[in-house]
Amino acid sequence: MRCAVCDKEEVLPFKCAYCGQYHCAEHRLPEAHGCKYLHLARSPIEIERVESVVRERRPERVAMRLSGSEAANLAIGSALVTAVGFTLLRTGWTDLPHLALAVGAFTASFLVHELAHKYEAQRLGYSAVFKLSPIGALLTLLSVFSPLKVIAPGAVNVLGIPSARALARIAAVGPTSNIAIALVCYASSLVLQLASPASPLGRVVFVVGALNSFLALFNLLPFGPLDGLKVFSYSRRAWASLFVPSLLLTLYGYF
Ligand SMILES: [Zn+2]
Ligand SMILES: [Zn+2]
Ligand SMILES: [Zn+2]
Repeated sequence: MRCAVCDKEEVLPFKCAYCGQYHCAEHRLPEAHGCKYLHLARSPIEIERVESVVRERRPERVAMRLSGSEAANLAIGSALVTAVGFTLLRTGWTDLPHLALAVGAFTASFLVHELAHKYEAQRLGYSAVFKLSPIGALLTLLSVFSPLKVIAPGAVNVLGIPSARALARIAAVGPTSNIAIALVCYASSLVLQLASPASPLGRVVFVVGALNSFLALFNLLPFGPLDGLKVFSYSRRAWASLFVPSLLLTLYGYF
């Protein structure tokens, strides 16, 4: 049997209980062979300690992986958010390219938000999985027909026991990504509408900005399972520094 890391021939190899690979004595520990299941091998308390004591030496990243069921959850979530996004597109856009652009942009807005949570969680050493919430999905579906919009079909659940600080950071990146997209969209739509006032492209880009502003604002409400509460309970200042811009951007989008 050869070691999976250094390829050294080993008569009595060590089998890793987490990834199942065989290693030599030197590479037998999950840390030593860069085990892809290192997050399972580490206890949450150890991650906490590493994070708080040794700031610059972060725990190992968890590799980005998307299971089939998580992808399905994300696809249904995107479809719901895209449907709500279309109800915000009040004016006449009729042609296929603009329709395709709107679908793509709405889907991307939602995916960027959720995947930002997942990426940040994994960067901090936690596994995280997106899951639809039945109530959230239902309310988002009803928002297609109601003037009151709820856009929260599900959430990224962080596994393990993250600190309040880690939880707030993981929560903040979702709305932050939407604020960034909104700023870029609003600026681009200004340029587009000046360049060609007759084209619906500027309007589509503007609505993508409005949808992102609303996604940020809604998720920053400091209630229940929303991102806002996790940021708010860790730092009111950090929360306000995200909430105020997203409120202004949403107001700009609707008036
Ligand atoms: Zn080895
Ligand atoms: Zn391993
Ligand atoms: Zn979120």
